[in-house]
Amino acid sequence: MKPAVRTNIDCHTDLAARYNQVCSAIGAAGKRFSRPEDSVTLVAVSKTRSADEVRAVASLGQRDFGENQVQEAVDKIRLLADIALSWHFIGTIQSNKCRDIAANFDWVHSVDRFKIARRLSEMRPQSRGPLNLFLQVNLQEEQTKSGVTADNLEDLANNVLTLPYIRLCGLMAIPKPATDFETQRRVFRRLFELQDHLRSKGLPLDCLSMGMTDDMDAAIAEGATHVRIGTAIFGPRQ
Ligand SMILES: *Cc1c(COP(=O)(O)O)cnc(C)c1O
Repeated sequence: MKPAVRTNIDCHTDLAARYNQVCSAIGAAGKRFSRPEDSVTLVAVSKTRSADEVRAVASLGQRDFGENQVQEAVDKIRLLADIALSWHFIGTIQSNKCRDIAANFDWVHSVDRFKIARRLSEMRPQSRGPLNLFLQVNLQEEQTKSGVTADNLEDLANNVLTLPYIRLCGLMAIPKPATDFETQRRVFRRLFELQDHLRSKGLPLDCLSMGMTDDMDAAIAEGATHVRIGTAIFGPRQ
């Protein structure tokens, strides 16, 4: 008979099954939408999860992890310093957190103001090389949402390109939830087009951070290079 209490091993088996499922889904979507092999990086969003859960996923081969709270992330990064991982900051950025972000992360997906980008550049330890940065775009002009508007994007991008310890890699968006696949695609296509426009003006942008658990396939269809997936790997958050 199965024990009534689920053991740690059961939990890790579930985690492995879900993780493998997500990896195959990314591969399948890439094939279906004719994306070059290995052009989509999975960022496993580990916010609210324990260092042990991250370690379990890392043991399956995962290297990129996303966090949205600085202190929570820094604690985890310390506990996991024995593994070579890439850390992505995906949350709202306050000025007074720039030092910790610049010192502990490899990528930042959520920059929407020059002041923050400049601070991150100033605070970046030179030994770590340039910090990889995405500009977050508010695609649907939602008042409550962070993100630069499409109108202000080009100026912001040109300013960020002048910063010495930043590598501007591309654009990021978090669209309003939509269940319809075509609606999801349309919003992501808009981000792709904004990026394409900047590229046509000579800006060296080669990454697009878009797609979460519920809209990953649409994002891959429209050119995502980084999908940020939490729930599908770790299960529902509390
Ligand atoms: C939480 C979060 C995710 C992951 O969301 P899931 O729906 O759990 O996959 C992705 N991006 C950002 C910015 C998040 O805050």
